[in-house]
Amino acid sequence: MSEKPCDIAAFGAHAADVEFSCGGVLAKHAQRGDRVAIVHLTLGEAGHPEMSPADYAEQKKVECRQAAEALGAEVRWLSHVDAALAATPEAELEVCDLIRELRPRIVLTHWRGSFHRDHVLSHHLVISGMALARATSCRRALPPHSVSHVFFPENWEDPQGFRPELYIDISESYDRWLEAAGKYALFRGEVVSFPYRQYYESLASIRGTEARCGRAAALMRSVEVWKTAQAYLD
Ligand SMILES: [Zn+2]
Repeated sequence: MSEKPCDIAAFGAHAADVEFSCGGVLAKHAQRGDRVAIVHLTLGEAGHPEMSPADYAEQKKVECRQAAEALGAEVRWLSHVDAALAATPEAELEVCDLIRELRPRIVLTHWRGSFHRDHVLSHHLVISGMALARATSCRRALPPHSVSHVFFPENWEDPQGFRPELYIDISESYDRWLEAAGKYALFRGEVVSFPYRQYYESLASIRGTEARCGRAAALMRSVEVWKTAQAYLD
């Protein structure tokens, strides 16, 4: 318990999700000296059309370590299987234990309005895990912890009902984000045909235009105390 609590913990369904969708926010805060953690619920190892899941998992481990290093964040991944994530009581307690260990002030994770099953399940797992983490009645090895704010980054697979409510200027961390995301072959267009780099660069430009700054990331809030968080994230 001697380590500094996390300022921000980002939970993604697959390695690459949070780096692509909110890596600029993570890098911005890491550059400012905040402790930033990334947690991948799965490695996303089933997403390669040619490589075996076992081989792609090894590649994703390398990529997510390099991406986290470029962002200035710490990273870990859980042992869930890509495309077979399950919101079991054990999985909820695993997230609970992580929240109690990391003690984040802010959590970023998937919005539930997704067409990807793993993303919907990740949303519910993280929300349930946070509820368990703050419950004094949930007796685990570590004491309870209350997350102050939860936000949902903008992910191309989670668009249903997403509302851009907070605009974070990521101009200062944009190059670092591009470098980090580029550690993934997926971002470089070498895995599937979806143009990840084009999409997320365009999105940063659109949100930046709306926010009257160079580049921005949009987040959706889930709690009413968002003004406090806005002041913190600005
Ligand atoms: Zn994903």
